[in-house]
Amino acid sequence: MVMGDLVTDVDVAVLGGGPGGYSAAFRCAELGLETVVVDAGKRLGGACLYEGCIPSKALLHVAAVLGEAERAKEFGVDFGPARISLDPLRKWKMERVVGKLSRGLASVARAKGVAVIGGHGVFEDSRSLRVGGDEPQVVRFKHAVVATGSAPAELPGLGVTGDRIMDSTAALDVPDIPERLLVIGGGYIGLELGQVYAALGSRVTLVEMTDGLLPGVDRDLVQPLARRSEKLFATIHLGTRVAGLKEVNGAVEASIEGQKPESFDRVLVAIGRRAVSQSLGLEAARVKLGDRGFVLVDERCRTSDPHLYAVGDVTGEPMLAHRAMRQGKVAAECIAGRPSAFDNVAVPAVVFTDPEVAWCGLMEAQAQQAGRAVKVAKFSWAASGRAATIGRSDGVTKLVVDEASGRVLGVGIAGPGAGELIAEAALAIETAVTAEDLAVTIHAHPTLSEGLMEAAEGLLHRAS
Ligand code: FAD
Repeated sequence: MVMGDLVTDVDVAVLGGGPGGYSAAFRCAELGLETVVVDAGKRLGGACLYEGCIPSKALLHVAAVLGEAERAKEFGVDFGPARISLDPLRKWKMERVVGKLSRGLASVARAKGVAVIGGHGVFEDSRSLRVGGDEPQVVRFKHAVVATGSAPAELPGLGVTGDRIMDSTAALDVPDIPERLLVIGGGYIGLELGQVYAALGSRVTLVEMTDGLLPGVDRDLVQPLARRSEKLFATIHLGTRVAGLKEVNGAVEASIEGQKPESFDRVLVAIGRRAVSQSLGLEAARVKLGDRGFVLVDERCRTSDPHLYAVGDVTGEPMLAHRAMRQGKVAAECIAGRPSAFDNVAVPAVVFTDPEVAWCGLMEAQAQQAGRAVKVAKFSWAASGRAATIGRSDGVTKLVVDEASGRVLGVGIAGPGAGELIAEAALAIETAVTAEDLAVTIHAHPTLSEGLMEAAEGLLHRAS
């Protein structure tokens, strides 16, 4: 510390104001700990609120409305061609959606007495954080929570920079509706944003280097999404790489392996995210990093430095907001001396595409790899009354159950509303429910939730 430094003394300093950071800070404050959040943007919400979950879901809602209007023709309702005005769309997303939630978080922070300091923070040691920017100061703490999140990964050596090459953050601003869009990466971000642009009118080409969309996700769940994406996108190249890009006549010419060079108006690079763990002074605080720069933590979210905890994307996969939030609460409770642990069995994952794909717990391929004796049931939505009434029989509900005990180990759902339906599965897995419990629980008719009950029934009847 230097003489003349402004010094703030607190119980807990949280570095990063995303879902992991603000959840930790709010819980610390509830438990009576004096807490500040240091965030480079001087605001709470992080990537999730400003460049992730929320703006992408707002745009996907617009895409869903356009998709529904198109489908309505099947039952004799024609709204005519959609006219899209980007200014009101962007304004709605930024002010009515993101702005509203941002103001909400700020008022919760005020109510709980959590101060938000704007500036870039770097640890000086295990007890102090130097904050730069407009509010320079040193924050001295008893404990700190590292919640610096993640940032889009870059594809090195592509050969072109500039605003025609977008990462997910730039794409969410919808600078225009490019006539021809190249999406590099068939993971959830590439698919979600690819579908948004396709719905808005872009001709989308998607390139994925592995041999299927959503690498690592159960193939039965991916199939309905793959079929829909084949209709929505102009072309999907699987098992293919983009070898290079160059600027030609105001467009981007892409060399896609095995294809003739093709021109695009914009390119979205969506090849994953990297931990924000560099240049934070973590070495000064004796915090150890593991694979891909993720901060190593135990089940109580403790790092290798006894004063520092870490939560959220910076601690590794799955990089999801709800995992970050749960970890944030666990870290706060552990700091306050409570017996808390991040020991959740199931972290649900949702891809908010059309159709949605959601899963949690152990999936079939993982069970096979682990040599676990499981029974698997699939319920096709072709047999669902509710799916028929909404014209969406393309879904599937999949159940993975422990062979000996009948306990539900994993659930996967593909179809509209899968993201809402997966909550029942998460509760079932977390509370050790059996397939029989699911089968005898009355699910309202006609609803898509019956799929889980039907899958469980199918499994029991097959066994008897
Ligand atoms: P972040 O939200 O990344 O927040 C970190 C904060 O720390 C940022 O505000 C950053 O400015 C600040 N910071 C970093 N370093 C410093 C520093 N040195 N000093 C001061 N401040 C610093 N997840 C879901 O669960 N559901 C979804 O639907 C979903 N959709 C997504 C869509 C997109 C397009 C993207 C990109 C992500 C999506 N995610 C989704 C992932 C989700 O956004 C992240 O998992 C979540 O934001 C992680 O929260 P976090 O608290 O770990 O960090």
